[in-house]
Amino acid sequence: MPTATALCLPAKGAPFTLTAVERRPLRPDDVRIDIAFCGVCHTDVHFGHDDWGRTLFPLVPGHEITGVVSEVGAAVTAFAPGDRVGVGCMVGSCGTCGPCASGEEQYCVEGFVATYSARDHDGSVTQGGYSSSIVVAERFVLAVPDTLPLDSAAPLLCAGVTVYSPLRRLGTGPGTRVGVLGMGGLGHLGVKIAAVMGAEVTLLGRSPEKKDDALAFGAARFVDTRDSGQVAALGGRFDLLLNTVPASLDLDVLLGLLGLGGTLVNVGAPADPVASYNTFSLLSARRGIVGSSIGGVRETQEMLDFCARHGIAAEIERIPAARVADAWQNLPRARYRYVIDIATLGTP
Ligand code: NAP
Ligand code: ZN
Repeated sequence: MPTATALCLPAKGAPFTLTAVERRPLRPDDVRIDIAFCGVCHTDVHFGHDDWGRTLFPLVPGHEITGVVSEVGAAVTAFAPGDRVGVGCMVGSCGTCGPCASGEEQYCVEGFVATYSARDHDGSVTQGGYSSSIVVAERFVLAVPDTLPLDSAAPLLCAGVTVYSPLRRLGTGPGTRVGVLGMGGLGHLGVKIAAVMGAEVTLLGRSPEKKDDALAFGAARFVDTRDSGQVAALGGRFDLLLNTVPASLDLDVLLGLLGLGGTLVNVGAPADPVASYNTFSLLSARRGIVGSSIGGVRETQEMLDFCARHGIAAEIERIPAARVADAWQNLPRARYRYVIDIATLGTP
């Protein structure tokens, strides 16, 4: 069985070790990718800490993958060796249910096969992109446009599409007022993408030192969420609030910031996901709360092409493999996404 070198968490609480992981021999529709870069998503940390009680160890995290095709199966038509490609959070789905048929594989009724810590259709456990190579069915491989650098494009594969999808779906454009809560990996791309779509964007965060960056990314203003007076002054303002914070917030306060018919979109995933709100916070202004999970394959390609057209990529800090454990600890201080330079992995 071919192998790849990978950064692996052997068990909950254990440190990263450099190991060999198996990558299957190519099936006719498979693409083998030499990974160049992998973003460090907060979800990797949730899985590493087993926040949601469903991590399969040993775990190789990473679902913001970019690299170059090294080999393709006999039936592959869309990719050839040398192509610049990406892989996001999904590597499989049933392919036949309603959501799959409409290009929303992330809502596959059987559950999509996640890029790591998931049971694949052949019974094996998937292992992600903190590794030197990966084998993925063509259907889940994305083309990275030539104008996007492979390092700063990597975070688009998860963070980018996770914010793009609800912004697009909920009609973000000129005349809409969008609030983005939290400016980390997802949030900074939310600001950039919503601004380019033409919305008036407000960044709501607990880190005033990020204000100048928020304005540079296209926000019209920064509001400090630790100042209840500043927050209250925004009452009824937004059409859409994009909540990227990985912790529980007071939903009634957030709903009060929405105008008539406004929508609170939760994409942040707290360790304790149970939340409550007052029904009157909704019905008093026909407000809604929705959740959103990443994006479909077609939509991810659309997002990559959109970002290339508008010259948008992630703000990144490239790190060597040896710094991944530190990066996990310092995630809230990232400006704004750590991206692992896979060339620094070394050999086990
Ligand atoms: P991140 O880079 O760590 O950014 C999170 C930001 O939230 C921080 O930079 C901070 O911004 C703000 N924040 C406020 N309160 C916080 C708290 N108590 N702890 C930590 N951060 C806090 O995380 P990310 O990669 O953007 O991911 C954000 C969340 O989205 C995670 O829960 C992740 O699992 C989830 N996620 C969901 C999907 C999906 O499909 N729905 C996809 C990817 C990730 P300020 O300093 O500006 O306040
Ligand atoms: Zn992610």
